[in-house]
Parts: sequence; structure tokens; C-alpha cells
Amino acid sequence: MSTLAYIGLGANLGNARQTIAAAIDALRQSSGILTLKQAPLYSSDPVDAQGPIFINTVVAIDTTLEPLSLLDRLQAIEQEHGRERPYRNAPRTLDLDLLLYGTFTIDTPRLSVPHPRMHHRAFVLRPLKDLTPDLQLAQGSFTTLLAGCQDQKLDRLVD
Ligand code: ATP
Ligand code: CA
Ligand code: CA
Repeated sequence: MSTLAYIGLGANLGNARQTIAAAIDALRQSSGILTLKQAPLYSSDPVDAQGPIFINTVVAIDTTLEPLSLLDRLQAIEQEHGRERPYRNAPRTLDLDLLLYGTFTIDTPRLSVPHPRMHHRAFVLRPLKDLTPDLQLAQGSFTTLLAGCQDQKLDRLVD
């Protein structure tokens, strides 16, 4: 049995585009991740974060990993790319957030799913909508949620 999960990727230090590509390769090669589909890349001004422009995307995976094992894997990939957490919302070489894990709700000190802030972030909603336009989020439709973050600058990058 596998579960459809969504992961948000962001990077705003170093060669962010290359780091995102390497992280996606690492996810593809992870045991327990069976398939991976990537949304287009976007650039965004920092929201709830600091530093230079971000590169963002979202991937959909089919996984046999349990949620905490998947989080372990995401954090290991972040570490391989030199992620440091000097202070909250600091610039980062790589950030991998577990957005959705099937239809599960998880609320533990280490893991909250659905990701509690994803509905306010255009850099999550836009690529998620590209991947899965029919997805129903508990907080509202993509149209309504995106209307609520129109002030967030977001550009789709050319391939
Ligand atoms: P935000 O969560 O607002 O996007 P952030 O990504 O900068 O902020 P981090 O410093 O990367 O925050 O993560 C802090 C902690 O959040 C992690 O150590 C992790 O245990 C926890 N966490 C809780 N829920 C999730 C989730 N859905 N995905 C990833 N990490 C999560
Ligand atoms: Ca994040
Ligand atoms: Ca994170």
C-alpha cells in the first residue's frame, strides 16, 4: 500500500535552482518513494522568511514510507545540502516541507500535516494547483486561497 504525498521545496541560498534539482533526484532515488511528479519552478519573494529570492516547486510522490520516516528522509536531504537553522525563518539552502500525506491529519511536536501555513502561501498553492488542479483543500478552493495571497510576488520560471 502506498500513499500519495505532496512535498514543498524551497531554496534561497547558493545555486538554488541546482539545489532543488539535486533534491528532486535524491527523492526519486529514495527507497520507499515509488513515483515522483514535479510541478513547474517558480521564483518568489521571501514570505515568512528572509534573504534573497526563493526558487520553489512542489512534487507529488507515491510512497510506502510512514510520515515520520518520510520527514526523516526530507531532513536528511536538507542536511546533505548544508541546511542550517541559525534562527527562525532564516535564509536556507534547502527547505523540504511535507504538505499533505494522503488525507491524514497529523498533529505531533515534530510533524503537523496538512502543513499549517501552506494555505497562505502562493509559492505552495500555485505549483500544487499546476500538479493537481482538482485537489480539494479543507481551507477552500485554489481560486479562493490564491486570491488571498495576490500580494505575494511569484513568477513561473521558463524551463
Ligand atoms: P514553516 O514550517 O513555516 O514553513 P520552516 O520550513 O522554515 O517554517 P523549519 O525550520 O524547516 O521551518 O522546520 C522546523 C520544524 O518543523 C522541523 O524540525 C519539523 O520537525 C517541523 N515540522 C512540523 N510539521 C512539518 C511538516 N509538515 N513538514 C516539515 N517539517 C515540519
Ligand atoms: Ca517551510
Ligand atoms: Ca521546513
